[in-house]
Amino acid sequence: MARNCTTPRRINKPPDSSCRTRTILLVDMDSFFSSIEMVEHPELVGLPVVVGADPKEGTGRGVVSTCSYEAREYGIHSGMPISKAYRLCPDARFLPVDMALYQTVSRRIMKILQSYAHEDKFQKVSIDEAFIEIKTDNFEDASRIALNIKKEILEKEKLISSIGIGPNKLVAKIASEMQKPDGLTIVAPGKVQEFLDPMPVKKIPGIGKKTEKTLKGMGIETIRELRTYDVRKLVSGFGKWGYQMQDLACGIDESEVKEDLTVKSVGRELTFDEDTSDPGVILDSIDEIACETYEALLDAGYLFRTVSVKVRFEDFDTHTRARSIGFLSCDPELVRNISKELVSEFIGKKKIRLIGVRLSNLQKANTRQTSIYEFIQVQGSVNRKQ
Ligand SMILES: [Mg+2]
Repeated sequence: MARNCTTPRRINKPPDSSCRTRTILLVDMDSFFSSIEMVEHPELVGLPVVVGADPKEGTGRGVVSTCSYEAREYGIHSGMPISKAYRLCPDARFLPVDMALYQTVSRRIMKILQSYAHEDKFQKVSIDEAFIEIKTDNFEDASRIALNIKKEILEKEKLISSIGIGPNKLVAKIASEMQKPDGLTIVAPGKVQEFLDPMPVKKIPGIGKKTEKTLKGMGIETIRELRTYDVRKLVSGFGKWGYQMQDLACGIDESEVKEDLTVKSVGRELTFDEDTSDPGVILDSIDEIACETYEALLDAGYLFRTVSVKVRFEDFDTHTRARSIGFLSCDPELVRNISKELVSEFIGKKKIRLIGVRLSNLQKANTRQTSIYEFIQVQGSVNRKQ
């Protein structure tokens, strides 16, 4: 693919390997949880269906996990407080999250997808989304294969999916979002820039609200503006990420399609039954979640370097704080103490709705299989109730 960027490139950049043509599909199930519920309960087809927390006639807490396209017409969307969803459409069918069922269906779908992958080039991204690399550089063949995949999933699971096809993961991912539901979007290698250029920068994975705002302040709103911007200025503002962002804006993504079997982080969250600003309740709860998170880390067999906490206030204003300790640890006291310290800054400001603890920068504790467990014996067991 010809590079259209006009700005200077980084020195020591690895040799361009764009001569290697790849055909990558991102298969994303449409409205996955609520569609599964409709397969289970056919009487719900065509109705607004909301899967998530119990709305308790508008007083319920927690959020919408997913909802049907009919529910979206009422303005309901994932992540919205369930009480708001209830106000928008009290007649919607509200169902609890049945994760065990969705995981079972997901495993069957992933098996189908894996069967189409060339030399195991398969990468599950989430419960309802996966990349596969297929063995053809002919995009017409690719579209036939994509249609077969959609058909097989529909026949076997009665579920619809959207597929994006591109020469790399970035393009396949963005393409998959273009024509939901039941979409198929193909971006041939020569059409990548034309496809990306008019899009807002937030389409690029990794550009969140904060980066989007900073870029806007620099006069960059579209991918075209990002790719033609002076890379030196991007780097002075964002460091290495400045280069990467511009590469992505140029449609360059050489990351491989492969399963990432490493656990990146473990975390636990708690939504209070009632919003609270009581320091005792908040600190006791963070202590409890820190212990649960630590236990999850042990189950997975990892050591951590970073502890972070999340705090969501009553008005949904959400903050995270993280601290890295500079060495690998499996010390439960560190998890508890750092979590409490990090959360303290938020106590007394507004009422808190949700708190969470996460351990990241993990490394497998596999140098000696037993070492982590020996360590626990020395430390003593972790009690949930202190
Ligand atoms: Mg999906």
